[in-house]
Amino acid sequence: MNYSDCTSEEARSFLNNNRIFIPIGSIEQHGPHLPLSVDIDIPVAIVNELVKGSQGAAAPGIIYASRSQPHSGGGPSFPGTISVKGTSLIYYLTDIFKAYVLNGARNIVIINGHYENEPFIFEALEVCREDKLLEKIQVIALSWWSVVSENIIIELFGELFPGWHAEHAGLVETSLMMYLKPELVKSIQVDHGSPPLSGVYIHPIDPHAISNRGVLSQTKGATAEIGEKLFIHICHQLQVLLENTHGMLKLF
Ligand SMILES: [Zn+2]
Repeated sequence: MNYSDCTSEEARSFLNNNRIFIPIGSIEQHGPHLPLSVDIDIPVAIVNELVKGSQGAAAPGIIYASRSQPHSGGGPSFPGTISVKGTSLIYYLTDIFKAYVLNGARNIVIINGHYENEPFIFEALEVCREDKLLEKIQVIALSWWSVVSENIIIELFGELFPGWHAEHAGLVETSLMMYLKPELVKSIQVDHGSPPLSGVYIHPIDPHAISNRGVLSQTKGATAEIGEKLFIHICHQLQVLLENTHGMLKLF
């Protein structure tokens, strides 16, 4: 069920009576083998799976978002990335969240797919809370990788997992895209042997030292089977989280 399929007259009661799922992503370079849309494709696929057969509805995705950074997304040196400043994003997201609440949303789930978005999503929600827009509203906002258990990372990727900041166009995203949108994945294998450190900002930086053609870690070993297992795990973990509704993941 898609929120945007409602008519104007249906919208308020629809938002009153359904949990609304908002996917947020980016248009960002993902190496020579993946499309610019990876960060919105994955949360949209998750949302579409979660709303199947539930009292939930998919909102249109928020596609343009936070700027790509060299140590987690390659940054602006790579062609194709279309993003906005963090300050712009906070205003933009605050306006969108506010509009959903004022139109009747009571239960909102935000699924993020772009590493650099997360603090701005949380900040926009805090602005809404301070403005007393979230009273009697339940919101759960997260990046999809936050529900991935360590056990499955070890099972699927072992020592090869570089950390989520460097998992950009690497094993995880490539596997998920091979499962979800194989027609968009090119058979080019690019690996980068020394992923950037997490939480370190360096200027100036050589974009070709921190990545190989926009890939921050490695793609070798990515398969659609791994993508399928991971996708099922993510959706299952989210269902558990949402059933508990207090943000506690008892499966960890
Ligand atoms: Zn990505």
